[in-house]
Amino acid sequence: MSARLRVCALYPELMNIYADRGNITVLRARCEWRGIGFELASASLRDPLDQDAHDLLYLGGGQDRDQIAVAEDMADTKRSALHAAADRGAVVLAVCGGYQLLGHSYQLGEQSLPGVGLVDLHTVREPGPRLIGNCAIEADLGQGPRVIAGFENHGGRTYLGSGERPLGRVLSGHGNNDRDGQEGVRRGNVIGTYLHGPLLPKNVWLADRLIELALGIELDPLPGDGPEDAAHAAAKRAAGVA
Ligand code: GLN
Repeated sequence: MSARLRVCALYPELMNIYADRGNITVLRARCEWRGIGFELASASLRDPLDQDAHDLLYLGGGQDRDQIAVAEDMADTKRSALHAAADRGAVVLAVCGGYQLLGHSYQLGEQSLPGVGLVDLHTVREPGPRLIGNCAIEADLGQGPRVIAGFENHGGRTYLGSGERPLGRVLSGHGNNDRDGQEGVRRGNVIGTYLHGPLLPKNVWLADRLIELALGIELDPLPGDGPEDAAHAAAKRAAGVA
């Protein structure tokens, strides 16, 4: 197979709590084990972003203070390239702090951090406990309903606009705001979620699906892939949905 996945990690040194770089590692492994080429670029503060150069753009989780540095820069220097990339079908995967910056704004007390407006949502740091714990959702990325399991830890509560669809429905845990049973967002190939784990090592099927969506191909399972891998089963068990 001569396909090649071109990945861009956005702000990898700032937006990478909970070892979210493991998501990139899984994408690389799942590609290389199939003979699919894998290229990794990065774009951080003040770097330009080439709207045509990447098939999958990744933004990980971050502490509030890192998000403050990233939000302005991303809105100023990367917003239009991100929109153009999303419009031509590139996958944009954003986790937790990154997810919060996909929408219109993240309200932190008096401060309102700008988002890039790829999706219609906003996030508010409301009074109340952080939403922490194992979480499982049911999501359908075109293959029928599947479980995504991971770990969430966020102070922000996210609210989707009325025309926006969540990534999945909460089976266990808090999800976007602990109220409406929704978790994450999906608009075309733009996906946001609160689930760390990291996300893709715990949900390898999702890594494969993202590669398919990014490249417009169908993948066969790898030798050794069973009906369910051990990490996914363990993540589901931890969330109480096994
Ligand atoms: N700083 C954000 C919050 O607390 C996101 C945290 C994270 O990425 N885990 O809501």
